[in-house]
Amino acid sequence: MRCDIESPLAQTAAGATAQAVLSACVHCGMCNATCPTFQLTGDEADGPRGRIYLIKQALEGDPISRLTQTHLDRCLSCRACETTCPSGVEYHRLLDVGRAVVAEKVRRTWPDRLYRWAIRTVVARVALIAPLVAAGRLIGKIPARTTAGRSPTGAHARRMTLLNGCVQSVAAAHFNAATTRVFDAVGVNLTQTPGVGCCGALDFHLDAPEAARRLARRNIDAWTAALDAGGEAIIVNASGCAAFIRDYPDVLVDDPVYAAKARRIVEHLRDPIEVLREMPPKPARAPRDPRIAVHDSCTLRNGPGLGGAVAGLLAGLGYDPQPVADPHMCCGSAGAYSLLQPDFARRLRAEKLAALTAGAPTAIYTANIGCWLHLAEASPVPMRHWIEAVDEVVG
Ligand code: SF4
Ligand code: SF4
Repeated sequence: MRCDIESPLAQTAAGATAQAVLSACVHCGMCNATCPTFQLTGDEADGPRGRIYLIKQALEGDPISRLTQTHLDRCLSCRACETTCPSGVEYHRLLDVGRAVVAEKVRRTWPDRLYRWAIRTVVARVALIAPLVAAGRLIGKIPARTTAGRSPTGAHARRMTLLNGCVQSVAAAHFNAATTRVFDAVGVNLTQTPGVGCCGALDFHLDAPEAARRLARRNIDAWTAALDAGGEAIIVNASGCAAFIRDYPDVLVDDPVYAAKARRIVEHLRDPIEVLREMPPKPARAPRDPRIAVHDSCTLRNGPGLGGAVAGLLAGLGYDPQPVADPHMCCGSAGAYSLLQPDFARRLRAEKLAALTAGAPTAIYTANIGCWLHLAEASPVPMRHWIEAVDEVVG
């Protein structure tokens, strides 16, 4: 698809990214078949092909309206469309450029700006999110606190660093505790790196890209020091955070120093499943409730292509993962999406839970804190992180 990007964007690295992505699209529409929002509305502008066209118009300087912004806001960034595109169009990279351009051209209403600011300010700050998590637990919106359990005591030559996370460190600290025990069991010391905090995804997706870049640079500096000191890999057990960190080179594309540093970070970034499938832990006991369902988060499945890996590992440890229909469909969590597009998010969640519970599992296991929080609010069975299932039989 030809696009005459207007100046000055055309002369930037972000403009070059957009041009490259657009030129790969042949406008065939095959991607619409796997797009959750297109399935919900049937509107071409709520599918990837329509959104690509809307972004092209915005980049060329055509008049755009709030409706354009609405159709882009409704996108989950789930990347299911990329898995069915025969031309290899990296839609999410174009979407990031397009959203930033549209955000500059279409001023949001002040209630919308205030709401977005409040989400960014509260969610990524541990001191502010803690009272909200406590309140959410009281009214049954967030699962009850789970004890973190013992810390590993083994000393190993292999060392890796673990992202603590912002929301997860408050709402589900036991995920990280379980991860360190499982890595201990396979001979790896897993510790947190001082100075690392929120990945910046919320800021970036809520119209505050400079704030996101500041967080990215801070994390890159801290992780660079950890790698220089002999750290083997950066482990991120929240696949949504990992997806954004994987995009750091694009986020910092106009900062040559940090873009290069970001590429080194991405080369060392691993989801725990990537490590554990190469060196599977040995089970010490059989699972209590083997019949389970696995929700492959979009950020695990569609970006890094790790769909099925978690179910495979758990099956090898004695679990019995039930088949789940339409695994490509997003659950509706998608970062702050469930807060900003609650109607779409609830409808997608209902469909996802119906698929996940069709096999009558005793629990549902996921790879992302956002999916965990969103699905747990309505799930009829307990929601857990898959590393907990490994910890149960190995730890
Ligand atoms: S993104 Fe891919 S599948 Fe979708 S219209 Fe373009 S070329 Fe076709
Ligand atoms: S990222 Fe997801 S919601 Fe957005 S266009 Fe692609 S498939 Fe649809």
